[in-house]
Amino acid sequence: MLTFYFGVMGSGKSAFALMTWHEKHRPTASHHPNRAVLATTMDRSVDKVTSRTGMAAQALRITPGEVTPEMFGGADTVVIDEAQFLTPDDVDGLATLAAAGTDVVCFGLRTDFTSRMFAGSRRLLELADHVGHLPIEPRCARCERPALINARRVNGVVTTEGDTVVIGDVTGGSPSDPDQLGFDDTSAGGQPGTGLGAAGRVSVEYDPMCFGCWSNEVGARRFIDLRQSPESRHESGEPGSGQHGHR
Ligand SMILES: [Zn+2]
Repeated sequence: MLTFYFGVMGSGKSAFALMTWHEKHRPTASHHPNRAVLATTMDRSVDKVTSRTGMAAQALRITPGEVTPEMFGGADTVVIDEAQFLTPDDVDGLATLAAAGTDVVCFGLRTDFTSRMFAGSRRLLELADHVGHLPIEPRCARCERPALINARRVNGVVTTEGDTVVIGDVTGGSPSDPDQLGFDDTSAGGQPGTGLGAAGRVSVEYDPMCFGCWSNEVGARRFIDLRQSPESRHESGEPGSGQHGHR
């Protein structure tokens, strides 16, 4: 069985991954000792899954694009955190593993900071036998309605620009705890030193936001970007092209 649980940052993704792994790792009366493997795609200095709740466990580090059935050593259960970073081919491999009898449980973000679906999450939604929304529903940082977008703030300004993966902190995390940086729900980020993170002095933070508040903050500039994009110019130059909602 292939299962995918998704949510926004703060929905307890890593905590549920840890609890799932812990439960599956427990020997059962009717079964041989369950062999469960906990894995993560996050490129961390330490190979572990850490939740903001304080839970942590050693984990197998997966390099996106390099998933093989053998890497899980014949485990009964494979639990994967940060599954949004898997490649579609990785997910195909996991689906094959699941079809052969392994219980594969993936946890990840549905969309990135531009509100678009991660490729790995899309493939998981396509192939999973069971799909579920994580039960913790973070509220929007602005209006407290349910959050949908992992908004990225660079030096305090919500942006839709930059690499998909940029490490950052979640507003409200304890700044005194270095483990909060780049771990668990900061996972719209990930690769230290890439993109804006390389500048060192640029503050990158993530806020869960509802679509209304997020689009209000980025809407004006996005509209300008759309009007200036080559595609947009192409469309406006061809009256018969079909999409003229802005006229
Ligand atoms: Zn809101």
